[in-house]
Amino acid sequence: MNNIYNYTIEELESYFINNGDKKFKAHQIYEWLYRKRIDNFDKMRNIKKEIIDKIKNEFCIDKIKIVAVRKGKDTQKFLFELLDGNYIEAVLMKHDYGNSLCVSSQVGCNMGCKFCESGRLKKVRNLETYEMVEQILIIEEKLNLRISHVVLMGIGEPFDNYKNVLNFIKIINYPKGIAIGARHITVSTCGIIKKIKEFAQEDLQVNLAISLHAPNDEIRNRIMPINKVNNISELMRTIKEYIKTTNRRVTFEYIMLDNINDTEKCATELAKMLTGINCYVNLIPYNETENIGFKRSNSDKITKFYDILKKNKINVTIRREFGSLIDAACGQLRAKKERVI
Ligand code: SAH
Repeated sequence: MNNIYNYTIEELESYFINNGDKKFKAHQIYEWLYRKRIDNFDKMRNIKKEIIDKIKNEFCIDKIKIVAVRKGKDTQKFLFELLDGNYIEAVLMKHDYGNSLCVSSQVGCNMGCKFCESGRLKKVRNLETYEMVEQILIIEEKLNLRISHVVLMGIGEPFDNYKNVLNFIKIINYPKGIAIGARHITVSTCGIIKKIKEFAQEDLQVNLAISLHAPNDEIRNRIMPINKVNNISELMRTIKEYIKTTNRRVTFEYIMLDNINDTEKCATELAKMLTGINCYVNLIPYNETENIGFKRSNSDKITKFYDILKKNKINVTIRREFGSLIDAACGQLRAKKERVI
């Protein structure tokens, strides 16, 4: 049966219209689900019983569940068990500007980035929309807080699950629902060009982050297999187009990997490549994992890299470190659960 949290407001309206009912019903249901946070059709008291019975034949409201929590200082990591027994993770980060949730989009990932724990477990399946929506609902309820920012940077490649991710964004952004502002939502991709082009046409105000991690094909090919089919020059051309179409600034994520992509030469090359592009660079200290040989660049190297970008007038920040003590790097907790270590 189809989960009710899979439905955007438009889809739910169409459902009622197609069943000879008023589309207003969709709004009533949305109010119960997302404003009053009621997850039981029988409690939706302003809707007639015969309609409720019909809805119950059509939709379910099943929830995924939290099976483990790890607490850090400003971070909490949640391991969810899905209804079919698969596991995914979400990470909550407390910032001074609000609570940000890092959401997973797939069970496993097929992108195979060499430094990433998630990729060691191949993709099992895409997440359905409701499984992404519920990561937010359940954590808000459990911790009795409001999530103000969402980043699609958990397990999975969001653009390899395009349709469900798009629906997820529409649902959480809907003003009379969870109402997370588009500018508070960030989609992160390893750089699937075809989908970046499609995304540019969606007329959304969400943020796009690109996991770049290298200033040239030679290095990027070594650490990110996607680059062999979607190389840097084509990626940069696509991003320039994206910025022109959407008028939005793009973020480049750059993990600092010791002796791989952290030299002064790399920094200069990166600065040259990004000059004139409306973007900013997020330098990320690599979160080391026991299973993968890469090491984190030391802070001197990171600072030097940062300085070179600054000097070349590139907007750049060094990401505040989250989660390294709680295995919060992409996929680490799930990996432990699945005992691949
Ligand atoms: N597939 C998407 C989103 C998930 S990964 C993407 O590639 O963007 C989210 C970010 O975490 C990516 O930039 C990824 O490269 C980075 N990442 C993966 N493993 C990491 C680690 N061990 N330490 C720091 N960042 C990591």
